[in-house]
Amino acid sequence: MSASDSPSNPRPITEARLLAMVNASGDSFWETDAQRRFVHLSDNMCRMMGYPREELHGRVVIEFMTPEYRAEIMRMAAARGAGDNPLVHTNPIRHEGEFFRKDGSRLWVETVSVPVFDDDGTHIGYFGITRDTTERKRAEEAQREANHQLEAQLERINELHAQLRERAIRDDLTGVHSRRHFLEVGERELAHARHHGGVLSLVMMDLDHFKAINDAHGHPVGDVALRAVGSMLRATTHAEDLACRLGGEEFAVLLLGTDHEAALKRAETWRTTLANTSVLAEGIALRLTASFGVATFPSQAGSLSELLKLADHRMYRAKATGRDRVAGEAADR
Ligand code: GH3
Ligand code: MG
Ligand code: MG
Repeated sequence: MSASDSPSNPRPITEARLLAMVNASGDSFWETDAQRRFVHLSDNMCRMMGYPREELHGRVVIEFMTPEYRAEIMRMAAARGAGDNPLVHTNPIRHEGEFFRKDGSRLWVETVSVPVFDDDGTHIGYFGITRDTTERKRAEEAQREANHQLEAQLERINELHAQLRERAIRDDLTGVHSRRHFLEVGERELAHARHHGGVLSLVMMDLDHFKAINDAHGHPVGDVALRAVGSMLRATTHAEDLACRLGGEEFAVLLLGTDHEAALKRAETWRTTLANTSVLAEGIALRLTASFGVATFPSQAGSLSELLKLADHRMYRAKATGRDRVAGEAADR
């Protein structure tokens, strides 16, 4: 190492060494005149753009940009108040976009461009460094795609979760709510009614002589009949009603905000609908009837279990007095 080479007295940086450094960095270096025509291009720049150096000399950089890149340049120029001449700038600028290579392929690049002035302050051109960002863009795109797929999967999982939840609260055969869900929600609704001074009624319903249907036509036919009753209930209950299959051929509907009179009317509608419709199962037209017991909170029962007990008691009154009927408070007397 000579004296002029020591850290305290470094060799002056020459243009050739500077170029060698830039080339070694993997970035591409270029210079233009004031009209943006290429006057110098590093080896890397020529290689990156896929042109022999002589084909780039004198050409204007914007010729190689994709329309989207040009639009981006125009946007940036407008933002700096140089909309009429997008390539003129007096401060360093940085932009990113796609170039067309000679073979027509596209190349994502990031460019830092710096204006050059001579000693008199006259603007004589630009120099800049351009970096191939294709790999980074590809990775970003892959990341976006992966995120997108993840979101789609998440959405599917949420859907399945909702379906599972819905299935857990339904009775498989009839599609009305399960007994467990009914008791859970029923307790909640009762507490709510108690707190807010609300009224609600319970209609209990048991199919008449259902065993005879099974005995005469077989269990599968009985199942079709139960499914038909479930459909009828689902079609005739409102959003504020809660219908369930308590078990076997026994159903219950909780009617929120419904007093005894109104609940008796609803039960009567279900009774006539059932009695007047025949259910077709395996070519057999079945006639179904049911007996109903109706009880109301808070005037007749103070809890859900009391409500269930009273409605059940009245339903058996309806059975005992001839079936195919609705029994309410009057049945107790
Ligand atoms: P009642 O008018 O007194 O209610 O007479 P019933 O025959 O309906 O009463 P019972 O309780 O004696 O019979 C109920 C029948 O319901 C017996 C049972 O085989 C039938 N059952 C219960 N669950 C199902 C089911 O899921 N599918 C079918 N097909 N039948 C069922
Ligand atoms: Mg029965
Ligand atoms: Mg029964």
